[in-house]
Amino acid sequence: MPAEPQKRKAQSSTEPRIGKWEDVDGRVELIAARCRSCGETFFPSRTLCLRCRGEAMEQVRLTGPARLTNYTVIHQVPRGFSSPLVAGYAEFEPGVSVFAPIDGSPDALKPGFTWLDVYVGPIRTYENGESLVAYKFRPVREQKR
Ligand SMILES: [Zn+2]
Repeated sequence: MPAEPQKRKAQSSTEPRIGKWEDVDGRVELIAARCRSCGETFFPSRTLCLRCRGEAMEQVRLTGPARLTNYTVIHQVPRGFSSPLVAGYAEFEPGVSVFAPIDGSPDALKPGFTWLDVYVGPIRTYENGESLVAYKFRPVREQKR
């Protein structure tokens, strides 16, 4: 039997609020949906527009770096998360923000100025030792102008 060409697979998690992503040659692309009627973009992806109730949605891809707009530091974390947990919003394009954990010290984060890369890594460890793997952010070294 001839080997089938490897297909790129959209990845997802069993957690419903976590959107899908795809690793394209080491670059993580978040799979979002844009309304063809009003232009609103949603991540995680949706089949109906929350803004205009339009049903004509097209797939768009969000790639970093994205600008940090806000973040929080959580000290009382749910079981399986490491503490403190830093998480925040990054804006990929005007009006399109994604919330995810952020690696590193919050001291280095400056909303409006810090640029974040998207990558895939462990978010949470379960009692059976398995990890929830999903997209997360880390500051890019070189700041965009
Ligand atoms: Zn719409």
